Amino acid sequence: MSENKQTLWNPMVHPGDPNARNHIQIVKGDGNYVQNREGNWLVDGVGGLWNVNAGHNRSEIKDAIKAQLDELEYFQIFDGISHPRVLELSDMIIEMTKPEGMAKVMFSSGGSDAVETALKVARQYWKAIGQSQRYKYISLKQGYHGVHFGGASVNGNTVFRTNYEPMLPGCVHIDTPWLYRNPWNCENPEELGHLCAKQLEAEILFQGPDTVAAFIAEPIQGAGGVIVPPANYWPLIRAVCDKYGVLLIADEVVTGFGRSGNMFGVRGWGVAADIQCFAKGINSGYIPLGATVINERVAQGIENCQSFTGALMHGYTYSGHPVACAAAIANLKIVQDEDLPANAAVQGQDMLTKLTNALSDFPSVGELRGMGLMLAIDLVTDKTTREPIDPMSGFANKIAAVAMREGVIVRPVGTKIILSPPLTIGTEEVDKIVYALQKGFSEIDR
Ligand code: PMP
Repeated sequence: MSENKQTLWNPMVHPGDPNARNHIQIVKGDGNYVQNREGNWLVDGVGGLWNVNAGHNRSEIKDAIKAQLDELEYFQIFDGISHPRVLELSDMIIEMTKPEGMAKVMFSSGGSDAVETALKVARQYWKAIGQSQRYKYISLKQGYHGVHFGGASVNGNTVFRTNYEPMLPGCVHIDTPWLYRNPWNCENPEELGHLCAKQLEAEILFQGPDTVAAFIAEPIQGAGGVIVPPANYWPLIRAVCDKYGVLLIADEVVTGFGRSGNMFGVRGWGVAADIQCFAKGINSGYIPLGATVINERVAQGIENCQSFTGALMHGYTYSGHPVACAAAIANLKIVQDEDLPANAAVQGQDMLTKLTNALSDFPSVGELRGMGLMLAIDLVTDKTTREPIDPMSGFANKIAAVAMREGVIVRPVGTKIILSPPLTIGTEEVDKIVYALQKGFSEIDR
């Protein structure tokens, strides 16, 4: 094993980046903590990568994985074949998404897959009901939907697109419902909700309503910087989509299964999407798994199509992988039995309050925001103008390095520091995270 990473290329970083976190090597995990190569146990303030919702080293999940390996390590689900775990899990997901009216599940291996599936199913739906001219997607300028060509095409941030262009034709982007920074300088949440919904309507009309397949967005933006929309946003967006027949795709890869403080992100706004994308928290990352869940409208449209257009020519060797499904079943039992969404709501609120008290006065802390256990610290050069810090300055990395020294892993992302710990955390871990960040800012942000 090469100690200096001669053979590994890490995602999302330039191979020669001096700010890369090459010194971090994680060797073990347990509960809300992970251990680094030096033997220190650190609070996992990032929950792996927004995904280790039930915590590390859960015997219930590990035992389910081991039992499944002994029973059936793998078999395909193409052409009508199935196995017990994939049937059990799809029933479980449909039961859990009953309030959202979901009907069918398509499995894959992660979030990018789940988004790709959603985008393709949306187009297939329109073809199946005889409206093949509906092929366009509308998404948000700061949204993140993974790295496949479909997801990257609807991604907002250009950094995910420019190196790989040309992207998919027919993808247009509108503004994010972000109170702190928006093109209207609007600071009234209610008004902002209306402005954003009006912009969606204007874009649909501009494109031609009969050319738009779907609007895709995260219920709460994660990678874009944890942006929580106003209370009226999702109901208004749903109404605009309904007015023009546009499908609503909720990318719940981060928000699915409890992270936002509700079982699903859209549930927090009392809204149902037509398609939901899941991964990450579906099985807390123990084995890669993605799922795309489709409501009755979309399912019926495709099922009722009598031609080959109704055939699902989309799926992966690892669709419904039995070991990943077994991990998910055990994980979702924990999520429900321990009511992890409720713990995420309580601990998230506590952490946001404590962070606000501890950090608000530091000159570089622009905004502290979040919902449930998705939190972000927005870093600025000027609190009044809200000018973001230079993302190349390494400032966020320096704060993260001090936090690490103090026993906490946080995630520096350009102009933000992101927190997304396991949903099992308690006051002890919250206090350690707050203390470590306070130390970081008091040393770096003077
Ligand atoms: N959608 C969202 C909202 C995400 O946050 C992510 C990953 N962070 C993805 C899709 C892509 O998931 P994956 O990395 O598992 O492909």
